[in-house]
This record gives sequence, structure tokens and C-alpha cells, in this order.
Amino acid sequence: MTHVSVLQLSGITKRYEMPAPVWEKVTKQRVSVPSLIALDGIDIDLRRGEILALVGESGSGKSTLAKVLVGSVTPTTGELTYNGEPMPVPRGKDLTRRIQMVFQDPYSSLNPRISVRSLLSELLLLHRIVPRQQVRAECVRLLNLVGLDEDALDAYPSQFSGGQRQRIAIARALAVRPDILIADEPVSALDVSVQATILDLFDSLREELGLTILFIAHNLAVVQHLSQRVAVMYLGRIVEVADTDELFARPQHPYTRSLIASIPRMSGDSVNAAELLEGEPPSPIDVPAGCRFHPRCPVAVDACRSTDPALRTVPAGALSGAHEIACILDDPPPFVGADTAPHEKENR
Ligand code: SF4
Repeated sequence: MTHVSVLQLSGITKRYEMPAPVWEKVTKQRVSVPSLIALDGIDIDLRRGEILALVGESGSGKSTLAKVLVGSVTPTTGELTYNGEPMPVPRGKDLTRRIQMVFQDPYSSLNPRISVRSLLSELLLLHRIVPRQQVRAECVRLLNLVGLDEDALDAYPSQFSGGQRQRIAIARALAVRPDILIADEPVSALDVSVQATILDLFDSLREELGLTILFIAHNLAVVQHLSQRVAVMYLGRIVEVADTDELFARPQHPYTRSLIASIPRMSGDSVNAAELLEGEPPSPIDVPAGCRFHPRCPVAVDACRSTDPALRTVPAGALSGAHEIACILDDPPPFVGADTAPHEKENR
């Protein structure tokens, strides 16, 4: 199948300079101040009409990457290309409209004093999406698109449940007719019982509107049934990318394997909730030399302390033609105790 790249990231880095310590100002002696490396050489593309899941622990750089994509953070180096054209900095109004964000917390992302009608109407008029006389009908269309009815128009955010608020936040993002949605952990603040309905909504919007979606999550289980591809992030780098079925059937990077092995799942009468990865990720102001995963990697070898592996293509299984990992080992061995058996899809 031919894939059309709608958004391409090449060598994206984001460094934050740390403030100089107070005693430097007092003594007027310069010290070397480390920088926080939030993103460190991200190369990936978003394909038209796909849901690409971006998964990793807190602090891996997922949210910084989301902000780079919507233009609220400027990368330190690297290039973003939209439909084959370099993205200007700053972006114009039209380009800004085309990439919209849905935030994690539907409670704080909506102004409690603004009705749903005002929220949507203002955007429709500001961006001249429809003529003024068609604004009400367009608001109703947007609400229907996200599974809400016309009654919601004159209500305020406090009158809705968490799942309904997230639907309104999605309607707000869709109001300006974007090509791409960046969804930053959009279900993690919701009850488990509501999460599946919002995931279904993203899936149906992709199909109905042909949207391209970057879906950010810290839990691989959330994206298994939703995404077409998965990119796994660790400490500012992408360490594995593959089609979703391929990734769950043949996870190659030791970090991905540990994430998959730690997914609780039903096994007979018991739940396998093995936590195989120990410790916390290192600080992004003190990234380990060599492979940044080596202090936690259960199968690290000596060379891992000095060699920083780049993403490279590995032979994929019968399920897929594309699989990349950042690991120096040709075929990283499973580690003792890991349950890395192919992870079957389960019905939600
Ligand atoms: Fe583990 Fe070494 Fe591969 Fe890094 S390069 S993931 S430390 S085996």
C-alpha cells in the first residue's frame, strides 16, 4: 500500500537551557550549566488518514513533541514538513488551523463560563468556516459528529460528565476543519468505562473525516485496538516504530517488550501484571552516555555503554513491511522472566 506523508519531522531536537545557579551570580564565576534535552533527534512521519500512537513513560518527551507539532514550542533544531513544504516559523493562521490539539483534561481545557454554542460559534466566525447564518446549523453538526445532540448547545461545561466534556473538546478542535488532530492522553483523565467510547469516537472520526491523528498515551494497552502504527519513546528519542499488529506480535526493543509484558491481561483465572522494568527513567538533564536505556536494560552488553544506537530497519514479520528499532543488538534476546509471547488482540 502506498502511504502519503502529511507531516514529516526530521532531526527535531528541543533543549531547554537551565538557569544559572544563584551562587554563579554572587561569585560572578561562570560554571557550565547543563541543558534539559526534551527531544533528541526525532525522525518520523505522519501518514494521511492514519492513527499513529506515541507511547512512553512520563518525561519521555511525548507532550513536548505534541507542542512542537501544534506550533506552541519551537524546536531547537530540525525541520517540520507539511504536505512536502517546510513549515514556516511562526505559522500563519491557515497552517495553525490545520493542526489542532485535544488535551488530556477536559475539565480544565474548557472555560466554565462559556456555553457550548459560544465556544463553537466564536471559532466558526473567527476562521470564517461558514457564513454567520449557518453557524447554528454547523454547531449542531459538530455536536452530532461527536455523539452529542442539539440540547447541548446552550449548556455550560459544568453540566456535562467527563466523557461529554471530552466530546465537546473534540468538537471544538474539529470546528476549524483540521487535517491533523494531536490528542495528548485524551482518555487518561476519564473513567475506564468511558475511555472505550472516546477511543471509538477517534476511530470513527478518522474514518468519516479522513483525519490523521497522533494519539499520545503512556499505556500501550490503550492504543492496541485503535492505532495503525505505534512509535515508542524513551527519554527524548523514538526507540521503536512498527505497524501495531507487528509491534504487539514481535516487539523488538527491550523497552517495548517490557511495556508489553507489563500490560495486565487475563490468563485463565489470573491476571498477569508483571512489572519487569525496574527503576525510573534517568533525568533528561543527565542523559546516560551510549544507549540511553542501558542503565535499565536487562539485556545490555558492554558496548551499550558507549554506542548510541540510531533507529534502523529490522526485518519485519509477515504482518508488516516496516519495523525500526534503536538497539545495537541484531536480535535482542528476551530477558529472564519476560512474558514476550505474541500479545493477542482482545475484544474491548
Ligand atoms: Fe539494551 Fe543495549 Fe539495545 Fe540499548 S542498545 S536497548 S542497552 S541491548
